[in-house]
Amino acid sequence: MKNKGLILITGATGYIGSHTVIELINAGYDVVGVDNFYNSTAKVLDGIKKIVGFNIKFEEVDCSDYKAFEKVFVKYPNIVGAIHFAACKAVGESIEKPLLYYRNNIVSLLNLIDLMNKKAKQANIVFSSSCTVYGQPSKKYLPIPETAPLVKSPSPYGKSKQMAEDILSDSVVAFPELKVCALRYFNPIGAHPTAYIGELPNGVPMNLVPFITQTAAGIRDHLNVFGDDYNTPDGSCIRDYIYVVDLAKAHVKALDKLLGEEPEAKKAAAKKIVAAKNSPYPAAEASGRWFVYNLGTGKGLSVLQLVKGFIKATGVKFNYVIAPRRKGDVEQVWADPSKAKKELGWKAATPIAEVLKSAWKWQQTLPKK
Ligand code: NAD
Repeated sequence: MKNKGLILITGATGYIGSHTVIELINAGYDVVGVDNFYNSTAKVLDGIKKIVGFNIKFEEVDCSDYKAFEKVFVKYPNIVGAIHFAACKAVGESIEKPLLYYRNNIVSLLNLIDLMNKKAKQANIVFSSSCTVYGQPSKKYLPIPETAPLVKSPSPYGKSKQMAEDILSDSVVAFPELKVCALRYFNPIGAHPTAYIGELPNGVPMNLVPFITQTAAGIRDHLNVFGDDYNTPDGSCIRDYIYVVDLAKAHVKALDKLLGEEPEAKKAAAKKIVAAKNSPYPAAEASGRWFVYNLGTGKGLSVLQLVKGFIKATGVKFNYVIAPRRKGDVEQVWADPSKAKKELGWKAATPIAEVLKSAWKWQQTLPKK
């Protein structure tokens, strides 16, 4: 297979980064991963090796340390694109430690943009954004399209994603070589089908599926379902759960587009581009080098549907109780992913039962405590 070029992956040993490394290699890209193991371990590299059959290029680096990060670009002058996963991501923690979140998430991004502009062979950046930028959309925006209004997030984590989109879109306007794709993830779940890599929550899981699998494994006594009196069919919150491998594949499509392999992108670039009405990023959009996509399934599932779906898919029962609503939870949100389908040729395809089975298979490889 033809080598499609060297891609820098920040946060490469993290949950989504590690799955994306695999899909990029499967698609013919060469990768160099960086991570400072803030929220992952070097063992993930062994899991990646078991899947792809070789040691990937990897540097232990803190992306917020400019000098250290610069050395990666000196060592690998042929980088043609970067996917920026490296960030702190716990919403609750971000409220207690705002400076940690702003420093890590923003400074790392500033360094990446600067180094991609100055040192990389081509400045293409795919950025991990989040559906948190939409807050709780009104009913008329469900499923939510990219054109829905952005809402100021109550958490420093959410704000850091919004700031990052602002910084990237301003940079696209200022730097003619820079192309950016911001991917707004909904709720990634599941693990690689081999169960060699998966989600490794630190302490008590903040996300639903690791909590379910840990409860099913007997590590936790019961799962709290926060609220059954929301304005949803069964009263529990609704989210758009997307399989991490499907999500990883979207990054390949995004890079293909930025690197100009997508014929539609070439056609679009030749046309005069008019920014969408009310776009928060009109100048960036008009440049033809700024793209935003929702990555979700397009289907909302309630917490109770997911709990019951897990029990049905795996045959493993566990205790769950209805608890009071949790402060700050959005009632319901799910994606309109049609733009990603149309422009990237990407669609989340894996059935939820298979996804939940992959999460359970992964849990069974982890320590019992
Ligand atoms: P993760 O914590 O598993 O992965 C992030 C990785 O980045 C970790 O391995 C961590 O050690 C590394 N990292 C953090 N700061 C670093 C730094 N300064 N230098 C080098 N490495 C650093 O998280 P994830 O779930 O894989 O998320 C990846 C990205 O996607 C994050 O930007 C996150 O905000 C975003 N995102 C995640 C979700 C989700 O539910 N998992 C949803 C929306 C958006």
